[in-house]
Amino acid sequence: MKIIKFAFFCLLLFSVTVFAQETDEQIKSEVLAKYSTRDYVFTPLPDRGYNYFKVAKDTYFVHNDFDNMVFFVTKKGVVVVDPKPALSQTVIEVIKEVTDKPITHVVYSHHHRDHSQGAYLFPESAELIAHKKVAEFMAIANDPMRPAPDVTWTDTFTLTTGGFTLEMKDLGRNWHSQQDVIMYAPKQKILIAIDMFHPDAAPWIHFGESSDPMFAFGLPDLLMNTYDFDFVVVGHEKIIGTKAHMEKYNALLVDMKNILIEVVKSPVYQVLGEQTDKRFAEFEVHYKYKAGITSAMNLCAQKLIESDWSKKLRNIELNAAENFQTMFMHIIVLDP
Ligand SMILES: [Zn+2]
Repeated sequence: MKIIKFAFFCLLLFSVTVFAQETDEQIKSEVLAKYSTRDYVFTPLPDRGYNYFKVAKDTYFVHNDFDNMVFFVTKKGVVVVDPKPALSQTVIEVIKEVTDKPITHVVYSHHHRDHSQGAYLFPESAELIAHKKVAEFMAIANDPMRPAPDVTWTDTFTLTTGGFTLEMKDLGRNWHSQQDVIMYAPKQKILIAIDMFHPDAAPWIHFGESSDPMFAFGLPDLLMNTYDFDFVVVGHEKIIGTKAHMEKYNALLVDMKNILIEVVKSPVYQVLGEQTDKRFAEFEVHYKYKAGITSAMNLCAQKLIESDWSKKLRNIELNAAENFQTMFMHIIVLDP
């Protein structure tokens, strides 16, 4: 009898272990198959106006139609990243549904209001973490919805709590705001690069109001060469970003650069330039430059919209001209 009991115990232990391993992979496959697809973008939200799903073990992705946030349940409590006003209250409700553990940490991504004005909703006992420069912007804003952080850091910071690790890094240059932060959860293989790009969609205007476009253009390559990740959280879109989405965004940037160079060297562009020269008087140089930029961005946008990128990404026509304007200014005019 004892032997049977022992055998049964071993079998139970074995099946629990196998089940746990399968679950990790199952979560990933399910997210890849269901929650990172274009079909999911067009799937209506439940009546409550949001949805959430597991993206790794003890890791949840909460979203509405345009915003998303992620939180991690550790052995000690819950770590919330990017306290957006659009979702923080929802995240607090979802946390109550999945665990009775307290919220122990809230991490600011950058100082922009749409990513930080939910911070005041979290319990005061939760430790608020920010890059030192982000904290300086918060101090200037003096906004009760964006309380001053309890912990600040420069260069790098590793949050370790209840068996969970979140690595934060200041890359030295920024892709979007005046101080961006890369976050990485190595065990979950999740990268957090807020406002970097839009998975399965065209970039936001002027490449997401990029503060440093030349750095932003090289960022996908840099991240893919530095971090081993399955998913990337960017703070917007209903779907979670995957490595494939980032690869596609990188390919878009490469193609856009090629289109730009091709257009600038093209006879059509030269002819337009000559016509512009005739249209304005010698002293109207400002107008000549502006006309040159405008014809380049429009020719480039037209080429992109007519290419197969219109099938590869949603809303490719949206902001196409403005994004080529940014690219023209930085690659053709400003890049040394
Ligand atoms: Zn922002």
